[in-house]
Amino acid sequence: MAESTLPQRLKPEEAPEAAAESAPAAGEAAPAAPSKSALKKAAKQKAKAEKAAQRAAQEQAKQAAAQAEDTAVGLYGKLPDNQDLVPATSFAQLSTDHYDKEVTVVARVDNARSQSAKLAFLMLRQKGQKIQAVIAAQEPISRQMVKWTSGLNVNSIVEVTGVVKKPAVPINSATLSDLELHIRKIYLISEAAQQLPMQVKDAERPPPAADTEEVDAEGQPIVTLKTRLDYRVLDLQTETNQAITWISSGVAELFTEFMLKSGARWIFTPKLSGSSSEGGSEVFEVKYFKRLAYLTQSPQLYKQMCIAGDMESVFELGPVFRAEDSNTHRHLTEFTGLDFERTFRHHYHEVLDFAEELLVFILTQLKERYKEQIAVIQKTFPKAGDFRLPKDGKALRLKYMDAIGLLKEAGVDVSEQERFENDLTTAMERQLGQIIREKYDTDFYVLDKFPMAVRPFYTKADPEDPRFSNSYDFFMRGEEIMSGAQRINDVNELEASMIAKGVDPKSEGFQDYLLAFRQGCPPHAGGGLGLNRIVTFFLGLPNIRLATLFPRDPQRLRP
Ligand code: ATP
Repeated sequence: MAESTLPQRLKPEEAPEAAAESAPAAGEAAPAAPSKSALKKAAKQKAKAEKAAQRAAQEQAKQAAAQAEDTAVGLYGKLPDNQDLVPATSFAQLSTDHYDKEVTVVARVDNARSQSAKLAFLMLRQKGQKIQAVIAAQEPISRQMVKWTSGLNVNSIVEVTGVVKKPAVPINSATLSDLELHIRKIYLISEAAQQLPMQVKDAERPPPAADTEEVDAEGQPIVTLKTRLDYRVLDLQTETNQAITWISSGVAELFTEFMLKSGARWIFTPKLSGSSSEGGSEVFEVKYFKRLAYLTQSPQLYKQMCIAGDMESVFELGPVFRAEDSNTHRHLTEFTGLDFERTFRHHYHEVLDFAEELLVFILTQLKERYKEQIAVIQKTFPKAGDFRLPKDGKALRLKYMDAIGLLKEAGVDVSEQERFENDLTTAMERQLGQIIREKYDTDFYVLDKFPMAVRPFYTKADPEDPRFSNSYDFFMRGEEIMSGAQRINDVNELEASMIAKGVDPKSEGFQDYLLAFRQGCPPHAGGGLGLNRIVTFFLGLPNIRLATLFPRDPQRLRP
C-alpha cells in the first residue's frame, strides 16, 4: 500500500524547540502588528484547515461504518501474522478430482478484472500455469472484499482459499481451463508495484527477429529480446521460460547421473589462474592483489592434472569464461561447461564410445522425463519437440573427411578445409546438419579425426596419418556442442607439440602442467560440452540467450 502522504503532526517533544525558534530573542525588536490582509489570509487558512479536518473525520466515520457493515472482515486483506499454516496445493496437483473441494493456493495475480460492484475475476499464475478465480458478493463475502480483490496490483502474490468448480465454459486463457476457483478467503503476501516495466503476458509470445518493438496481429506489444533480458526476473515467470529453465536443470541432472553411475568423480577446479590456460588472447584478466590473474577458459589443464593424480575418471559442471567479441546466436562470454576426462587402455575410441552413450542418454531421457516441459515450449518454439535421435540408439559417427565429401557433393566450396587451412565454418556446419538430417534422419552426430592444424597443442596426432588428429566434435542440428580428443600424455611429445603450435613450454604458466606429465600419466581422452548450447539446439531455440538464466555477452553484464 502507498504510504500516507498527509503531513505528520508535530511530535510533543519537538514542540517547545519549534516554539523557541519562532519567539523573538532577548534584545530583539518585537515584531510589527500583522497587517489586515495577513490577518484575513490567516483566517482563511484556518477555515480551510478546519474544513479539511471535518472532511477527514467524515471519511473516517464512513470507513468505520463500512467496516462495521463488512461481513468479510478477516477473510481478506494483508496476510495476518498469526495465520494458521494451511497446506497449500500446487497448480500442478490440481485436477478435476478437486471439483467442489476447498483448496488453498499461493500464486501471483496475473490479471484482476472487476465485472460489477458484486463480481470480479482474477487470473492466478503459479510457475507459468494459470487458473481463473472468481469472487462474488454473497454473505459472508462483501462488496468491500470484491472491490479490494479487483484492485490488487498485477503480479502481487496472494494466498487464496476457495472451492474448485467446473466453469460453465472452458476458460481458454487459463492453463487449467476446466477449473475455476471460487474465492472464500484472499490475503496479500507480497504486493507488486502498480507500474511494472514489462508485463509477463507480453513476454509470453516469442521475441521478434529484429530488436525493434513490434505489435502482434491483435495489436498487443511483442517485447524484444533485449527488453526481456533487461527485466529477466519478470521474463522468467512465463510458462515457456519456466519450462526452458527446467530443461537446463535436466541436462545438468542427466549429465551428473550418467557420470556418477559410470564411477566418475565430481571435481571442482579453480576458475582463477595465474596464467591463461590454453594460450591465446580470449582470456579475461582480473586484478589479483598486486598482480594479474585470469579467468579460466576451460578446466582442460586441471582435468588432465587430476588424471595424472590417479583419479581415472573425472567430471565437472562449472562456469567457463571466453573473452571473445563474438556477437552471435551461440556465443556467450560466460557459459556453463560440462567437462569430463577419463583414462583408456588401448584406444581413444573407448572414451569416444562413452561420450556418445552419454549424449544419447541425455537426449533420450530429456525427451522422456521432460515431456510436459517440451510440450509447453513447443507452443512458442515449434521445433522444441522435433529433435531427431538415431533410431538404433547409437550415435552416427563420420570422419571429418567424410563430412567434407558430403559438403562437396552438395556443391559447397571446401577447398580451404581440404587443405587443412581452416576449420568448418558455421555456415558449413549448418548445411552439413541439414544434409545429415535428410540422409541419416538424425539431428545428433559426431565427426572424428579433425585435421591437426585446427586443434589445440595438447591434442594427440593420428599415429597413422599425422595430418589428422585423434579428436572429435559433437553436433546438434548442425551446431557444435562438444569438442574432445585424446590428449598427449608423453611429456616430450607434449613439449614438441607446444613448440609446433607456438606455445612456449618454458613459460611459467605451464610448469605445473608439464610436471604432471613428467612423473608419468596414463593415456586419456575427454571432452568439453556447453550446457547452454545443448539446451538451445535440443529445443531449436533461435538464440542461446533464451537458454541462459542471466546471459553474459560482449554487450551485457546485467542483470
Ligand atoms: P566455437 O567454434 O563454436 O566458437 P569452440 O571451438 O571455441 O566453439 P570449444 O573451445 O571447443 O568451443 O568449447 C567446447 C564447447 O563449449 C563447445 O562445443 C560449446 O558447446 C561450448 N562453447 C564454446 N565456446 C562457447 C561460447 N562462447 N558460448 C557458449 N558456449 C560455448
